[in-house]
Amino acid sequence: MLVRRLPAPVPPAQHEVTACYISRLATLHGLDVNDLWVQVTRREKSGGMRRVIVPERLAALTGRTIHALAGALPELRDPQPNWAMFRHQPQTGCHRCDSKHPGGKVTRLLPHHRYVCLRHRTWIGPPDVNQPAADLSDIPAIVHSQRRHLRILSRHGWAPTYDAVLTAFSFCGHIWDIANPPEDRQHVWHT
Ligand SMILES: [Zn+2]
Repeated sequence: MLVRRLPAPVPPAQHEVTACYISRLATLHGLDVNDLWVQVTRREKSGGMRRVIVPERLAALTGRTIHALAGALPELRDPQPNWAMFRHQPQTGCHRCDSKHPGGKVTRLLPHHRYVCLRHRTWIGPPDVNQPAADLSDIPAIVHSQRRHLRILSRHGWAPTYDAVLTAFSFCGHIWDIANPPEDRQHVWHT
């Protein structure tokens, strides 16, 4: 299939979901999103109904190299990334970063270790349902924690870093459960 380059192929956002990027491109050019989706995908080889992205076609459509596209779009990476390091659901990110990307809502697949946009001091961790991202300008301790968290990540890798967060949540859960202080004096609640 011959794919013609779009006249205004804006770049993808970092960690953007590929379908979201294609949807923004369609909106910006007044094209039907389903038509554009068919142009840059093919039926999966197993014969199912699902369609998979053809990186070469998306590159032809945008005039961007596959390497550049894959740098932003995790689904295009080859080899595939370890999906366990990403949150299981796409989400919106920092609204101030997103405002630079026209064409509609930007949906991203963020890795577990990204809790704060350091540039804009905005919460981008697991979002609360229907709540806008919190501005952390008045809570520098959280911004500082994100920097320290990234240092742990570079030293130990994503899996132990994620385990450390889960363990910390477990401690906090016990500490916050003040209605039911455990009897055992060795319990974490007492510590
Ligand atoms: Zn930002």
